[in-house]
Amino acid sequence: MIIDLRSDTVTKPCDAMRKVMANAEVGDDVYGEDPTVIQLEAQLAERAGHQAGLFFPSGTQSNLVALLTHCQRGDEYIVGQNAHTYKYEAGGAAVLGSIQPQPIEHSIDGTIPLDKIEASIKANDFHFAKSKLLALENTIGGKTISQSYIASARALADNYELVFHLDGARAFNAAVAQGLELSEICGQFDSVSLCLSKGLGAPVGSVLVADKQVINDARRWRKMVGGGMRQAGILAAAGLYAINHNIDRLADDHARAERLAQGLSGLEGLNVEGGGAHTNMVYLSGGSGFGEAFQAWCADQGLMFTGGSIFRLVVHSGIDDAMIDRAIDVIAAYVTK
Ligand SMILES: *Cc1c(COP(=O)(O)O)cnc(C)c1O
Repeated sequence: MIIDLRSDTVTKPCDAMRKVMANAEVGDDVYGEDPTVIQLEAQLAERAGHQAGLFFPSGTQSNLVALLTHCQRGDEYIVGQNAHTYKYEAGGAAVLGSIQPQPIEHSIDGTIPLDKIEASIKANDFHFAKSKLLALENTIGGKTISQSYIASARALADNYELVFHLDGARAFNAAVAQGLELSEICGQFDSVSLCLSKGLGAPVGSVLVADKQVINDARRWRKMVGGGMRQAGILAAAGLYAINHNIDRLADDHARAERLAQGLSGLEGLNVEGGGAHTNMVYLSGGSGFGEAFQAWCADQGLMFTGGSIFRLVVHSGIDDAMIDRAIDVIAAYVTK
């Protein structure tokens, strides 16, 4: 039995999803003629409480285009030190947009301390880059960002006339975990990038939502970076299937992650970070015996996860209860051997 907990990106499209992909109505989306893409963009925008949407091949490109759209060369965006946009997107905003990142260390709950944000905002002085945008991520490391924090960050952004962007790759997880509508998670931001290819199970795709003007501008940037796709309705159909069938079931992933966390807590020498799951993720740390050897041994038993000193185990639609039990057994066997 292979239990792949490396990421929720490893999910594969189910038969029903493949069927709607095969039968999707398509057109040339660069000409704005793909009805399935248009439907996906409209449906997600409405659900997220925004005017318009734009379909992208990846979340990396969606975040990049959001930053290129909002910021000019010589501007700066404020971002968490561990944020995907800063750390895991190959420095795209700096390389391709000449947008300087101002990374800030996170608090333990995944937020960026508001006083540190405020302290990093630069005065209007030609020595400095222009502070232009504040980017949050929700969930981050699986942790949901509280609604009250988001409201405070919005107020701070307004105070300093910063654009407010959300990397909402897993915003659906945040909504489901808190019993909120997607619009409650996304509505306070000027733009939000939403991933379809994580726990929602589509093979490809993200949608950027914002107001119409931002999306119009973003369309040019998307074309420039090579994201204009032709009969993309085949991919958008998967996204539509995902948002119509796979959102509520994220709660199952969260419950299984919690079961995994509880099954692993109390094992000698191993620590479940935060004492439980963060939505669909469990983070483990251990002492000296829990380095690469631990990871390699588990992989030999068919249990795959990522990490170096802190390991990340991600639950998704390809994981059932029996796999959770097996994962616990494998790790317990390592600990007691
Ligand atoms: C996965 C992910 C993205 C975008 O990923 P792609 O693989 O480029 O689609 C962006 N932000 C976060 C937080 C992610 O987890």
